[in-house]
Amino acid sequence: MTLSDGFGRTFRYLRLSITEACNFRCSYCLPDGYKKRPGPAPLSRVELRRAATAFSELGLTKIRLTGGEPTLRKDFEQIAADISALQQVRTLALTTNGYRLEKRAHLWRAAGINALNISLDSLDRERFRQITGHDRRDEVLRGIDAAFEAGFETIKINVVYMKGLNDHEVGDFINLTRERPLSVRFIELMETGEHAAFFTRHHIPADTIARKLYQQGWTPKLKAADAGPANNFIHPDHRGSIGLIAPYSKDFCQSCNRLRFSSFGNLHLCLFGNFGLPLRRYLQHDEQIGDLKQQLIKAVRRKTAGHQLAQHQTGMTGNLSAIGG
Ligand code: SAM
Ligand code: SF4
Repeated sequence: MTLSDGFGRTFRYLRLSITEACNFRCSYCLPDGYKKRPGPAPLSRVELRRAATAFSELGLTKIRLTGGEPTLRKDFEQIAADISALQQVRTLALTTNGYRLEKRAHLWRAAGINALNISLDSLDRERFRQITGHDRRDEVLRGIDAAFEAGFETIKINVVYMKGLNDHEVGDFINLTRERPLSVRFIELMETGEHAAFFTRHHIPADTIARKLYQQGWTPKLKAADAGPANNFIHPDHRGSIGLIAPYSKDFCQSCNRLRFSSFGNLHLCLFGNFGLPLRRYLQHDEQIGDLKQQLIKAVRRKTAGHQLAQHQTGMTGNLSAIGG
């Protein structure tokens, strides 16, 4: 059984948000810090296991744990272990701000996480502090070393590319890939409901980097079926690779293979959609997994062709901490 929509797209990849809480204050996401909203608790470990089971039985082979900061959860390693134990899940990925990486990378690897994305928007200590609200650049860099030592083979660095903040660091980030098998992925800044003015000030299209890469001898690499949204480039003199995530490019949505599930049990068909379909009531007993699968099959048929970001329609999500980037 697979999950497909009316545009011939099949979904292999789930982004599962396990909390909307975060300890960082990234200027483009939660500049004033996370504030708890009144309402239900996030999905429990067992609810998350049921959700992941349903998606994996519908052919999703890659699950990414995201948030907020997923590693803030006290039961994070147990959640990861439950999901990695599902037979159909080939890739269990994590997106993290890296603040616990140095101390816990080995535990996460042992829990079955086999792909790691670490957010790192600046290699300059003061600039990192300015962007994230935390003086933790050195910790995150040591965390990357710890992740290699723990045996992670796929390590990606997420860099949100921003005019006037880190656009002068592209060369330094590219250099990180020379000796180490790191993939540096430049993410084009996306407009969100709460940060329209920040977007106007700092947005630059990712293809400005693509031009640089072609000039320097980088070549595009083919994508796997469950690959993420990045277009990847390789170079004979670099062990690592560069990825570009360009949500404003004209064919970005055509190859969409991703679905999102929020930490409150809502299915989001698009990061910039106008609704989340509440499905938590189907996560209360193991016997409901069949019904949940039927709901997912029906819902995914409603996925629209693409987002309307170019028209500044950012959807219901005020910032990306609520349902993961
Ligand atoms: N807290 C974790 C982290 O920062 O890695 C996971 C959640 S975060 C929402 C996931 C990714 O989305 C991060 O790489 C972050 O930089 C990116 N992101 C958040 N807001 C964004 C925006 N407005 N435009 C582009 N990327 C954004
Ligand atoms: Fe937190 Fe990630 Fe948002 Fe930064 S991007 S504030 S680390 S959720």
